[in-house]
Order: sequence, then structure tokens, then C-alpha cells
Amino acid sequence: MDNEATDRDEAEWQHCLTPQQFHVLRQHGTERPGSSPLNAEQRDGTFVCAGCGQKLFTSTTKFESGTGWPSFWTPIDGAVKTTTDRSLFMTRTEVHCSACQGHLGHMFEDGPKPTGLRYCMNGTAMRFEPDPTD
Ligand SMILES: [Zn+2]
Repeated sequence: MDNEATDRDEAEWQHCLTPQQFHVLRQHGTERPGSSPLNAEQRDGTFVCAGCGQKLFTSTTKFESGTGWPSFWTPIDGAVKTTTDRSLFMTRTEVHCSACQGHLGHMFEDGPKPTGLRYCMNGTAMRFEPDPTD
């Protein structure tokens, strides 16, 4: 984990992220569905936080939700935290990176087994690191 990333101020974040990453991670934005190349990512590997590089999800927990956002049924232990988001007149569970607090997406309780959870993530908020191949 990159400790320097966790205590950047907003101006520093704006400097080191793309405008779209800044919008999603730091301003609770949501990318357009279907816009992230990570939607179609099917290789084995790890999805990491675009802000600080913390490992968030593994490819083995990714599933096709049909929503247009990369979806997972469980995060890596301790990688994300959730808070209750009451904006837009709905109560949703917001998911953020436990290291840099960057906003990643939302969690819903209509996912597949074994957890029944659906972590609906913005691909913009993540980077994919494929497993090394021989
Ligand atoms: Zn992070």
C-alpha cells in the first residue's frame, strides 16, 4: 500500500488523477454504464484502487450483472468500507476504499451466491492488474 496516497488533500488528488477518476473517487461520481473497459475484463488478476493501488477485488469474484458496471460478489478482506448514502431520495450502501477513502461504487443485496451481494463498481475507480502468465 502506498501510504503517501492516503493523506493527500483534494488539490493533490486533482493533480494525480484524471478528471474522470477525480470525479468518481473524490466527488462520489458515477461513470456512464458500459463505459469502462473493465466491464469486459475476463483475465485472471486483481482489481486495484486507481487512487492508491490497494487491492480491492479478485477476478474470481467478478460476475456479469448486466448493469454496465463491473460487479463483484465479495471484496478482498478489509479492502473496502461501506457507509449509508441517503442522497437521491434513496438509501444505498456506498462502498469506498479502506485505505484512501476513495468512492468506488455501491453495494446491493441482489447478488449471486454465495454472498447474495452485488458490489457495483465504477471501472474508472479501479485499475486491473493481470496475473503473470508463463
Ligand atoms: Zn484507495
